[in-house]
Amino acid sequence: MAEPRLLDTLAELVRINSVSPSYPGGRPEKFIAAYIRDFFAQRGIETHEQEVFPDRPNVVARLPGRVPGKRIVFEAHTDTVAISGMTIPPFEPTVADGKLFGRGSCDDKGGLCAMMHALASLKRDGITPPCEVLLCAAVDEEYSYRGVVKFCEGLTGQAAVVAEPTDMRVVIAGKGVLRWKVVARGRAAHSSKPHLGVNAISHMARVILAFEEEHRALAARQHPLLGPGTLNVGLVSGGVQVNFVPDECTIEIDRRLLPGEKPDDVLAGYQRMLDRLKADAPGLNVEQLPPRTRDEGLSTPADAAPVRLASEILRGLRLNGEPCGVPFGSDASKLSRQGLPSILIGPGSIDRAHAAVEYVECDQVEAAFEFYRQFMLRFE
Ligand SMILES: [Zn+2]
Repeated sequence: MAEPRLLDTLAELVRINSVSPSYPGGRPEKFIAAYIRDFFAQRGIETHEQEVFPDRPNVVARLPGRVPGKRIVFEAHTDTVAISGMTIPPFEPTVADGKLFGRGSCDDKGGLCAMMHALASLKRDGITPPCEVLLCAAVDEEYSYRGVVKFCEGLTGQAAVVAEPTDMRVVIAGKGVLRWKVVARGRAAHSSKPHLGVNAISHMARVILAFEEEHRALAARQHPLLGPGTLNVGLVSGGVQVNFVPDECTIEIDRRLLPGEKPDDVLAGYQRMLDRLKADAPGLNVEQLPPRTRDEGLSTPADAAPVRLASEILRGLRLNGEPCGVPFGSDASKLSRQGLPSILIGPGSIDRAHAAVEYVECDQVEAAFEFYRQFMLRFE
């Protein structure tokens, strides 16, 4: 049975610009937070706010449970990526061909809206679930995960369900990411007398080749759901003009981590590699800078209670209940690190997230509502 007003709420959420303030055209999440607070207030559900940055609060709604000390957590993010490059109106949601279009419809407002309605439907029906249910609408997922990190402070619970577009598959594994710069330094000279200088670009060429070797070596270790870790040298810059010997060259690296790989250990491994290069090439002056982005992977055992229940509910809804992995990061790894067995599941495809034409399938939003509601009702 369709949930009344589910898609109206989604359209209203899309209409509120919540582009992350870290991106062009962004706006603090306080506007969408106010909408979510009102939604729950109108339905007699208590909420509180957690200030993460000024004007950027998480909203946490709470429904008491029957069993003392038992808690499950639902989490979705309120921010979106920027609208540049979009070829549809970002904040004027339209429905066509069973899809709702607009920025955030898929990532992450479809899942957020389904979670909000699932919680509200229990209250409306006068049901007290076995576990206390917390629903966190978190800020800043699209930039630095500070919203979920704040929510995790002191948090305990028996399970966490995080909404991200997974086409309603239950995701138990995800890669982490590490991004950092490496700088090679040389000595400037006029290019007519290159022997007086040290060419930082030439030195960096060796470093890049060594990182390429490391990338190839990663193929030896395969995760059953995720495949291998990867490494990509994505940016290079150096030199001032063609008749100077360049005294500096910088590269930026994106390394996708498998669950269990610790960012510090990975960086220490590359430091040893650079030290070997230096030993072979006297005069090579190269340094790793502290990472700009670091996030560990997600790995929840396939036999963990929330995974088993999720598979069961999905099969009951005639959906694919087989757990799977995704190559992208999410708030789930932070909840998992906090000790809550975590799964990722939500409506829509990750291919539509951040896209020029973003949409979510309306029937998947309905299925997500049903899934979240059953999870709240049945997890003990
Ligand atoms: Zn997302």
